[in-house]
Amino acid sequence: MDCIFCKIVEGSIPSKKVYENEHVVAFHDIQPAAPVHILIIPKKHIATMNDVEPGDWGLLGEVHQAAQEIARQVGVAESGYRLINNCGKDGGQVVFHIHYHLLAGEKLGPLNA
Ligand code: 5GP
Ligand code: ZN
Repeated sequence: MDCIFCKIVEGSIPSKKVYENEHVVAFHDIQPAAPVHILIIPKKHIATMNDVEPGDWGLLGEVHQAAQEIARQVGVAESGYRLINNCGKDGGQVVFHIHYHLLAGEKLGPLNA
């Protein structure tokens, strides 16, 4: 499968990893949109939020748990952060392996800006 994030999971494409466990990996976005911009993904290839199957919700819970831990780890838990999933064309999704953006490190603008 030609998926850039699966390649990051495998290690065949390099990334700056900040977190990894059995099911989840997180790494710095290559084109940061904020001082802190980390992508958090399940290792399992799920293309979009629409493709999440009933048995996957625990895994997405683990992704959220990782986000909470990473926010603490990088020191933005108290100042705050934004966790975003873009789904599909109108959502602005470019990479079709489900991921959450953790954005932080400055006061973020309104969502519709
Ligand atoms: P989307 O628009 O699909 O929600 O977000 C995809 C994100 O992946 C973008 O913010 C983009 O900068 C990031 N990205 C795309 N290719 C790579 C890559 O090869 N490495 C890393 N670290 N980030 C990538
Ligand atoms: Zn993938």
